[in-house]
Amino acid sequence: MTRARRARIVATIGPASREPGQIKALAKAGVDVFRLNFSHGSHDDHAAAFKAIRGAELAIRRPLGILADLQGPKLRLGRFADGSISLQPDQPLRLDLDTTAGDDRRVGMPHPEIFRALQPGSLLLLDDGKVRLRVEKAGDDFCETVVEAGDRLSDRKGVAVPGGTIPISALTDKDLEDLAFALRLGVDWVALSFVQRASDMAELKKLVAGRAACLAKIEKPAALEHLDSILDYSDGVMVARGDLGVECLPEEVPVAQKTIVRAARNRGVPVIVATQMLESMTASPAPTRAEASDVANAVYEGADALMLSAETAAGKYPIEAVQVMDRIMERVESDPRWPGLMDAEHAGMDDVDADALVAAARKAAEAASTACVVVFTTTGGTARRMARERPLQPVVALTPSPDTARRLALVWGLEPRLGQQPATLEDVTEDAVRHAVDAGLASPGQRVLILAGTPFGAPGAANLLRLAHAPSIRN
Ligand code: PGA
Ligand code: MN
Repeated sequence: MTRARRARIVATIGPASREPGQIKALAKAGVDVFRLNFSHGSHDDHAAAFKAIRGAELAIRRPLGILADLQGPKLRLGRFADGSISLQPDQPLRLDLDTTAGDDRRVGMPHPEIFRALQPGSLLLLDDGKVRLRVEKAGDDFCETVVEAGDRLSDRKGVAVPGGTIPISALTDKDLEDLAFALRLGVDWVALSFVQRASDMAELKKLVAGRAACLAKIEKPAALEHLDSILDYSDGVMVARGDLGVECLPEEVPVAQKTIVRAARNRGVPVIVATQMLESMTASPAPTRAEASDVANAVYEGADALMLSAETAAGKYPIEAVQVMDRIMERVESDPRWPGLMDAEHAGMDDVDADALVAAARKAAEAASTACVVVFTTTGGTARRMARERPLQPVVALTPSPDTARRLALVWGLEPRLGQQPATLEDVTEDAVRHAVDAGLASPGQRVLILAGTPFGAPGAANLLRLAHAPSIRN
């Protein structure tokens, strides 16, 4: 199966989409990467979904990526004796390390690191920002606050501290267990939530040790501040607009989206735009006009992938949500304005071999009205550099590695395909043309532009650019 569109779709698995039949239908409808959300569901649930996705991959004959999303250090309040309390404006509320149930004067918050990072005037955002507490006094194991906004607070609500970096470790004990489990399953991508700084990703990368690609979810102001150094340690990045919208003002989120997409595209790191893209489709078979526009704009921005969360995990219309997203993407990409808008700030050339070649390939493909580009890639590096050029011709990423093919399923414009490692230049030409024709991307007589590396069979940057014609297989 070949995708006509360049933008990719990530869909979250949940109770609404766990059955093998549903997973296959989602893949057919257009999902490229499935997200297993470790904030919800049991290990058994994730293992069953994993198996069903690999089954769907065989059925649709197209590499599908699987992304394990770790919950990360999400901070939470303790419990209340009555399950919840009501709040009044200016009401004093003390937070402390006491594990006994709270009341309307105090409640536990089992995170000593937070108390140490607070100062008078600091804000605490609870329950997705619905409750705002202003700190009056903070010590090593407590803080005294007053209610600035909100009328109710219940057990185990999330706590966010906007501004500053809290010295908590990047992975909780739960994350470490989930990570080991996900790696045993054999996931292709691991995402980390609530990343604050580059060392969080460095820690994840060290633990993953090459067994999966690592993605940073940008959902805290601290991560935005450290975006450049975080990208140094990330194979992919997510604009996690849900939590970003809790920790920043709403008007900051679209600007953050532009900043993150731009920075990631400059680096050639795939970027996912996530959360509430088609939110109303959790309950309705059609999106709002604003949602259609939001999806379209992310495609005009040239993001690699767009993500569905509750829409496919818990909504009433998971398949329809994927179909709607797929249709909007195709529509935008058929707009004659799309190439110009999508590539308005073309990423410059870095001084590496692959870039010299992919920049030449992009130009040659345009000038020579080439049907498609075929990149021979072992680790996926050359294919990602080619995608960074955002060529208008389809790009087949031909690799002998199923792991590489699945990781590349997230990347803009790449058609990952499994093929043999070529041994000679004749193999390169023949394989490239055969795969291009088989994928329906070139017909006899059309030109195919080939990128490969010599010596054949040894990993290394591409150093060979070759123009072939589809009939050459019959020579
Ligand atoms: P989540 O991450 O769905 O895991 O919270 C995405 C976001 O916060 O936008
Ligand atoms: Mn989040």
